[in-house]
Amino acid sequence: MNTTPSNILVINCGSSSIKFAVINPASEQALITGIAERLGEAGAQLVWRGSQQKNTTALETADHDLAMQAILTLLAEQQLADTLIAIGHRVVHGGEAFTHSTLINKAVKQAIADCQSLAPLHNPANLLGITITEKYFSQLPQVAVFDTAFHQTMPAKAYLYAIPYRFYKEKSVRRYGFHGTSYRYVAETACQQLGIDYQHSQLLCAHLGNGCSAVAVSNGQAVDTTMGLTPLEGLVMGTRSGNLDPNLFSFLADEYGYSLEDTSRILNKESGLLGLSELSNDMRTLEEAANQGNQQAQLAISVFCYQLAKTLGGLATALPRLDGLVFTGGIGENSSFVRQQVIKQLAILGFTLDEQANQQHGNKQGVITQPGSTCALVVKTDEELMIARDTASLVNQAPATPNH
Ligand code: AMP
Repeated sequence: MNTTPSNILVINCGSSSIKFAVINPASEQALITGIAERLGEAGAQLVWRGSQQKNTTALETADHDLAMQAILTLLAEQQLADTLIAIGHRVVHGGEAFTHSTLINKAVKQAIADCQSLAPLHNPANLLGITITEKYFSQLPQVAVFDTAFHQTMPAKAYLYAIPYRFYKEKSVRRYGFHGTSYRYVAETACQQLGIDYQHSQLLCAHLGNGCSAVAVSNGQAVDTTMGLTPLEGLVMGTRSGNLDPNLFSFLADEYGYSLEDTSRILNKESGLLGLSELSNDMRTLEEAANQGNQQAQLAISVFCYQLAKTLGGLATALPRLDGLVFTGGIGENSSFVRQQVIKQLAILGFTLDEQANQQHGNKQGVITQPGSTCALVVKTDEELMIARDTASLVNQAPATPNH
């Protein structure tokens, strides 16, 4: 096992889980990956994989603090604890304060706390992860990598809502965009694969997982995106509705007596593929059902694909030309059917699918369109690696002194 201090611990702390990975930034290899999950519940457990098979350790009813202790013990057992040079944290919302990843200090933690009203489910958990790792790895510098930062280059005409301007001035109500870390990774990787210069590229990227969004990237900078103030806006997702008429709130209140919380829950947790199919939020399950003739599943998939294609067509207007459309995320990387439907619907943008390449690129990477077509390709995302890269680059630039 490598004992030279050179590795990055990547932490993605959620409300009931801590995902972690130790990545060597030179080789870009993950030496261990894992998740402490169901934290605070009876079945809390630590699941991890090193170079060998998957391992599971029961954590009883561990909370985040106990789970972090268990991760620290595991890293020590695996002779990785002493190899760390820094910790990189995924932070969902950086508001307008953060345009890039940053070394964490008191002011940064306060700014993350100040964004809590914009991401009440995520930012408190992200901050908790930072506080706990500071406690157990007090000698290591820590870096925050924001989902929103990449989108901060969007112009006002793309990020403003057409509502009274005072809501933006007083409460920062605007479109922020998410999945930014994934987009930076796949956009750069796509350019490497296509042999084009990232700083002079014009791309559309669609991150299609349980959450789905798309972005237009011009000369390496985000110029428009689909997710908004929160990750509810934009595309149809697993359980989220995406775009709809905001008057639905008053309509459902009048017709069903639903409160704001009721409708918000329905739109976030009971809509999207799940709501339409009345079966599942999981695209793989829906494709299987659709293939067996389930009409609700077919309907849900067709709405998903049509709305996605329509949105990508709209985003293309933000670009002077189109060098490539990148599919990523669990659905984008694996569903040849979704990619096929979207590419066919986008014929107006000059796409012609290579059916065979599209089938073959299951979960691999590569171009899925024919020669002479506008290019579409699959890129497997790696947000952890992007966090490790940013963290390594920031700690190499700055003296490695933690500043809590
Ligand atoms: P993610 O959130 O990126 O892990 O993506 C999860 C989504 O990817 C779920 O809807 C899965 O059903 C979908 N997915 C994963 N593998 C496949 C597959 N082979 N075919 C279709 N959808 C898939």
